[in-house]
Parts: sequence; C-alpha cells; structure tokens
Amino acid sequence: MTPLRCPRSWRAAGPVAALAVCLGAAIGCREPVAFVEYRPGHDFSRAERHAIEAIVNRAVSDVRAVLPGVPADLRITVQAGTRVIPETGETGSVGLPRSVYWTVDPAHEGGVTGVAGAWLRATLFHELYHLVRETAVPTTSLRDRVVNEGLATAFERDLGGGAPPPWGAYPDDALTWVGAFLALPRDAPEAQWASMDSDGRRWFGFKVGTWMADEAVRRSGRSLVSLAAVPTGDILDWAWARQLDAVPFGPLFAQRYHGATPSTLGVIDTLMPMRPLDANAERYRQLPPALRRMASVPVPTGAKPLDPRTVPPSVAILAAESMPSAPTTESPDVLRWYLRQRGFAFSDALVTPDGLDALIYYEADCGGTCGEAGYAWMRRQSLRAPWVLRTKFVSGYA
Ligand SMILES: [Zn+2]
Repeated sequence: MTPLRCPRSWRAAGPVAALAVCLGAAIGCREPVAFVEYRPGHDFSRAERHAIEAIVNRAVSDVRAVLPGVPADLRITVQAGTRVIPETGETGSVGLPRSVYWTVDPAHEGGVTGVAGAWLRATLFHELYHLVRETAVPTTSLRDRVVNEGLATAFERDLGGGAPPPWGAYPDDALTWVGAFLALPRDAPEAQWASMDSDGRRWFGFKVGTWMADEAVRRSGRSLVSLAAVPTGDILDWAWARQLDAVPFGPLFAQRYHGATPSTLGVIDTLMPMRPLDANAERYRQLPPALRRMASVPVPTGAKPLDPRTVPPSVAILAAESMPSAPTTESPDVLRWYLRQRGFAFSDALVTPDGLDALIYYEADCGGTCGEAGYAWMRRQSLRAPWVLRTKFVSGYA
C-alpha cells in the first residue's frame, strides 16, 4: 500500500485548531488523509474528537480508493448546531473545491459520538461525491441540483456501508414523481423542490434524484463513479428512457438527420400534420398494408400539441409560433429566413390495430439548406417491449 500524499503548502498552512488525520502506524503512513478542524461554539471532548477522526480517517481513505478526484488537501470542518436532519441529528455540506462541513446536534440521542457512529461515514461518502461531481460539472439549475443529490445519495447508500438513507427510499410510483419534477418550470424555486421537505412529499427532490441515478446506472451500464463527471442532461435522458420506450416517438431522438440530432435542434411543441404517403411507391411496399392504407389518405394525422413526456429531458421544446414564418415577397429577408430555420418536428404516430407497428412523419431543419424529411417506421416485439426504429424512409433532403 502506498502512503497517502498531501501537498506541503497545505500541511504548513493549517490553523492551530485543526488536526491532521493520518492513517497511522498500521500502514506506516505519516501523511494526513484530511485536515479536521472544529468550529468554536461547542467544546468537543477528547473522546468525541477521537471518534470523529477515526471515522473521517477510514471513510476518506475508503472513498479515495474508489472515487478519483477527491482533493488531496481536503478540509473537514466540524461544528455543533441544531439545523440538522431531525432523523439523524447531523447534516453535511460542501464548499468547492476542498471543504466539507459536518454539523452535529450534541443534544440528539446518542450525543456527538452516537450520531457520528451512526451517520458520519455515510455523510462523508455523500459529501465527497458532491465535491468531486460539482468540481467536474457546474451546478447551475434545479435539475443539476436534484441529479447531484440523487447520485450522491446512491453513492452513500451503495458504498457507504451503513443503513439505507431514508431520503433515497423512493416510492414504487417514482416514475410519476419524476414526471412531475420534469414538468416543473426551469426556474422553479430550488429551496422548495430540491430541499428536504418540499411539496408535502418528504425528500421529494432527493428521492426523484436517487431514482434517476439508479435508472441511469441501469440504462447506461456505467458505475456511479464514472457518472460523477457526466453532464446532467445525459443522466436525465437515461433516467427517462424507460418512459420513452413506451412511445413510438422515443427512437426518433436517437437518430441523426442530415448530421443533426434533435438534441442540438430542439423539438417543435406541436405535432405536425402527416403528409400523405404514396402507397404505390415501390419503397413503401415493405410497410405493413394497414400502415400503408392509413398513411395514404389526404390527411393521415392532424396537428396536435406535443406531449412533453414523449421528449428526452435534455431536448429543448420550441414554441411553434416562435418559429419565423416565411416572408411572402422576394427580399434579402428570404435568405435570412432560411438560415434561421432550426428545429425538429414530427407528426402523431399511426399505429396498426395490433399495436406493434407505427409510422411517423418527421422534418428536421438544421439551418440554411440543411435538413431532412421522411417517414420513420417503428416496431416493437410485444405490447410491453420498447419501440425500435425499423427503417427511415427519407423522402427529401434540403
Ligand atoms: Zn447532498
């Protein structure tokens, strides 16, 4: 085992009240794994400090062994206070790039030592994950915040080795909660939705985030450690994939259209009318006859509002009326108008009576003369299986 290292400048710079925690003689280490300091306000006894530092020592070493990116000059500030999670008697927070704060209520059952023994290790796993992720991926929105909490909670639960944290215990209908969360306006107040007791549903944001973290792991096949540096949008899309499996539109978002993807274009908030298909064209012979019949009438599907639940969370939804309409007279505006067109639009799906085949018309405009239009034929093996793209019939390139 290699001795743990820390920068000299940091060792020299610590305040008097701080204590460097070391792995100890057992492995011949003389380097601290973290710097522990105690805020004035409570006189932490020798026994309390000993208990806290032993836990810090072990937990930080264990996290470092699995999670790259924990800062070498980690600083842990211990303080007493009453603004804690009522169930645990403690709480943690971070300050980028190297600080973790642990607040404990000495009046909680078990006192400082009891609370530290029950929760400090798990809290450190949680907070160190925050530190690593938030250094790699800036947190600027409620969605970032909830995803961060979910990943940190799953990490604490799976690797911390303690009792499962109650804020990670999402309900059986978690997908409904996630739908409600994704439907929130982007500027919904963070304090209300990401905090511990929002919305009457205890730990709403934490439970939604933990469910999304678990789904992202399952869908991506990646570990929580490797997801630490993955952007929020990708996590949300993996988490929502189960919902998209159930609608024929889902596979549209995984395709490229003349090189562009819907996530770079944005999707129009109105389902466009389907253009009638030429049922006699040779290329459409492979379609199920029912689909060909339904798609060759004058107006196979009409316009209707897009259900946002059929769109991956990372794809922007654009208001149809915000798209500029074409100028009616020849002018320099015409060129400007063409260059401005961007967006992905698609029609409602025609579905065969057995529910296993579907046809959708789509148009992708990627600006200028770049674009693609056509029909997408979707199929699923059974009514419960995910929809997959069978074939794209490109009817036009711009
Ligand atoms: Zn957290």
